[in-house]
Amino acid sequence: MSPELLQRLTEEPKIAYFSMEIGLTAEIPTYSGGLGVLAGDTIKSAADLALPMVAVTLIDKRGYFRQVLDKNGRQTEEPEEWKPSQFMKLLPDKISVEIEGREVLVQSWLYEVKSLTGGNVPVFFLDTDMPENGADDREITASLYGGDRTYRLKQEIVLGIGGARMLRRLGFEIKKYHMNEGHASLLALELLKEHKRDIEEVWDERLVWDVEKVRGLCVFTTHTPVEAGHDKFPYDLVSKVLGEPIPLEVIKDLGGRDSLNMTLLALNLSRYINGVAKKHGEVSQDMFPGYKIHAITNGVHSYTWTCESFKKIYDKYLPGWANEPELFVRVGRIPDEEIWAAHMEAKKILADFVKAGTDIVINPELFTIGFARRATAYKRPDLLFTDMDRLLKIGRGRLQIIYAGKAHPKDEAGKWLIEKIFAIEEKLSGSIDIAYLPNYNMDMALKLVSGVDVWLNTPKRPLEASGTSGMKASHNGVPNFSVLDGWWIEGHIEGFTGWSIGPYHSGNHFSESGGQDDSKDAEDLYDKLEDIILPTYYNDRHRWIRIMQNAIGKNAYYFNSHRMMRRYVTEAYIR
Ligand SMILES: *Cc1c(COP(=O)(O)O)cnc(C)c1O
Repeated sequence: MSPELLQRLTEEPKIAYFSMEIGLTAEIPTYSGGLGVLAGDTIKSAADLALPMVAVTLIDKRGYFRQVLDKNGRQTEEPEEWKPSQFMKLLPDKISVEIEGREVLVQSWLYEVKSLTGGNVPVFFLDTDMPENGADDREITASLYGGDRTYRLKQEIVLGIGGARMLRRLGFEIKKYHMNEGHASLLALELLKEHKRDIEEVWDERLVWDVEKVRGLCVFTTHTPVEAGHDKFPYDLVSKVLGEPIPLEVIKDLGGRDSLNMTLLALNLSRYINGVAKKHGEVSQDMFPGYKIHAITNGVHSYTWTCESFKKIYDKYLPGWANEPELFVRVGRIPDEEIWAAHMEAKKILADFVKAGTDIVINPELFTIGFARRATAYKRPDLLFTDMDRLLKIGRGRLQIIYAGKAHPKDEAGKWLIEKIFAIEEKLSGSIDIAYLPNYNMDMALKLVSGVDVWLNTPKRPLEASGTSGMKASHNGVPNFSVLDGWWIEGHIEGFTGWSIGPYHSGNHFSESGGQDDSKDAEDLYDKLEDIILPTYYNDRHRWIRIMQNAIGKNAYYFNSHRMMRRYVTEAYIR
């Protein structure tokens, strides 16, 4: 890094944001889904708000993966090769971490998120692909969520320990470390190593490690509402791969007796801990009764997640909206016809995109449902097909559906769901057209959330910690039709900002007895589609546009990452 640039970037103390995945643009495929896109939106808002932040992640030179779907919807994965040098600068600075007793060198790429406001957040992408490292070690930062447990632990060592060392090497003074999910927890162990108490006589070796000091430096955001979802490593693996950067007994005190639980480690080493929606905060509080869990509901970056035609009308009627999304409160100034015209423009762009990528032809005059997110069982992408006769009766010739989403390479249930939707697509063809678009990414997400008429979400409660794609839809005047879970519990006003599906469950515990829920939820979905949503769309356009306006004025107004970052600053960072 040039001395001037280094000087500029390090001149004031920073908040360091650590995330295993970061989605900044579709061309930089270092994200798998909502967690990564949230990290990207976080950094973009930080830049717009000129917050003193710096971010750390891994380079993932082969990306997450490129999804290929055959004619039956069977998914295979191909590497998503990309060239970091097209977007970022390789820095000469090197640090090392110990993995399996070896020194592994780590270098980093600098990407600067620059805002028109003058704000600038550097993002460091860590990379072990250096000739000094052995062939296996060069692969550690190659693919996001690839490989086995050992591979994952190595990645977490590079991210947490390597990231902290790299920031120090580059000359950053860090006043707060923000761990986005447990993947970065080893960072806190590294900090513990740096903060040994200076006491002369110790009767208990453990007192040497200044846990309170480290807690004061760390902020932890959890995203996982079920116990089974937390990252854990058996101690024989930990001993082999990580070794004992601090005595194993101390690690076990902080990270769990039976296995190293990355969430527990972060909980024990952070003073401020939060879930990503109010409900998720409660669920997490029940899961971890000994800790105070706060909640800061997620948001999305307004400028990134607004399509061109809506940007135009916002610029015209709400100038300054992109850096002050509160201006959406005045959405009522935009004439109905202009909202509808902007929507139809987005819908035509989506129709052209679908035509180019599949053999399905979408009719922009027909009511269109969108459903796109990671393909995995708890999201229930097939809930809409619970009763095919009923669906046909309601939707024949009046409804079309667009799907997209990748299943994790090892998620067989998720892959099977894609095949199931392909089979249904064939069966309903001509009556209700369905398109499943391959290789979901951020570019496609913007086309989808802006180009459909309703954004559908059907997770099993309470497994959707927040969900963010529905917030993107709101930014484009597309109302949500969703199960009351995650953010929608807070954003939903029935018939006003959109519609709920099924009841609100106040219970915080996940039960496997979902069968009954499925049919109840499906029934409510059909009832509302038939009695309220389709009739309003086709017969009461004026009322429909009111709902579109409310999606903007009530949902986008609040569920944006500018509001979210202001809350992180006042509630987590400056305390
Ligand atoms: C926003 C986004 C997500 C998150 O979607 P959810 O509905 O919140 O799960 C996933 N993938 C991509 C590409 C996105 O842009």
